[in-house]
Amino acid sequence: MTMSEHLKLDSVSDMLAFGLAVVTEASERYAEMAEAMDAHNNTKVAEIFREMADIEELHAEGVQRQISQLNLDVPKTDYQWTSPEGPETGDFSDLHYLMTPREALLLALHNEKRAATYFADVAEKVTNDEVKKMAQEMAKEEQEHVQWVEKWLLDYPDDENEWVEDNDPPVEQG
Ligand code: ZN
Repeated sequence: MTMSEHLKLDSVSDMLAFGLAVVTEASERYAEMAEAMDAHNNTKVAEIFREMADIEELHAEGVQRQISQLNLDVPKTDYQWTSPEGPETGDFSDLHYLMTPREALLLALHNEKRAATYFADVAEKVTNDEVKKMAQEMAKEEQEHVQWVEKWLLDYPDDENEWVEDNDPPVEQG
């Protein structure tokens, strides 16, 4: 489903369905990036991503609770992260092992910004007050994530060399 399609949506159940898809995707990607950072023995960044995965998961549970409380039949919605270079990600898992902390953080930043912008756009365009309020809250939350990632990025100003040096694939277990 594309963003422009969503911008026409103006119901609480559509908003919650999309919100759920966005935070679920984020939680899964952060968990994957945490594993990638473990492969780099970068415990610090792995911990950051694990924390982000937990935050997004809690958020997903909150949205799920709202859906249950309102007894809504929400449409099945899909949402995928994109890389800063292009719209289609396919599967990140091949990339992950080679991903440096800075690249992982830039990927996170790109997608947190994308989510924040998306919800802000929805908040601006919808006419349903309840949906508008929900979208504003989501935008605010995603904007906070953007700020956290920007702060963490200050610790990784440049890692050009790490990318090329890391050419020793991890050994598959089992
Ligand atoms: Zn987020």
